[in-house]
Amino acid sequence: MPGVGPCPADILIVGEAPGFNEDRQGEPFVGAAGKLLDTLLARIGLSRGDVYITNVLKCRPPMNRDPMPNEAEACSPYLKRQLELVQPKVVLILGRHALERLMPGQGSISRIHGSLVKRGDVAYVPLYHPAAALHNGALVADLERDFDNVKRYLDKLLAPPPPPEPAPIPRQEPEQLRLL
Ligand code: URA
Repeated sequence: MPGVGPCPADILIVGEAPGFNEDRQGEPFVGAAGKLLDTLLARIGLSRGDVYITNVLKCRPPMNRDPMPNEAEACSPYLKRQLELVQPKVVLILGRHALERLMPGQGSISRIHGSLVKRGDVAYVPLYHPAAALHNGALVADLERDFDNVKRYLDKLLAPPPPPEPAPIPRQEPEQLRLL
């Protein structure tokens, strides 16, 4: 992306790969998983305009199969550049493929989901992928609880800095002492 300047957004969301609908429309998360993502964002007072959404893979894998490691590797310069351009403070990682790409070796999503991991200036929150919750309804409650935690993290991480202390008022010497 030569010549593209930074477009800062505080929150970046990283999914797995475009599905059928996303591939046709050229936009991430516009299908059923996207509808659930919208509901979860609304639950914590956010909408799409408040976040930047992307995927590990930039093309749809054939037959909607899982991304192969070499495909994620081939797309990784684009994801890396997006991170540089967006400069997020918080990255929401959706699912195990995004977790493996952004935080390799961190363990399984079922162990780490909902926790906050700080790396330098960026905070990462791994979450179940909404599509996983569409397949296994029991994960919806986990996602809701985790998004409630995301709200708490965001309230702290994105809070405006406190106003500067007022400058101390210089002490006036009493007139009489100055005359002595
Ligand atoms: N699932 C993803 O991971 N990304 C999309 O854009 C849509 C579904």
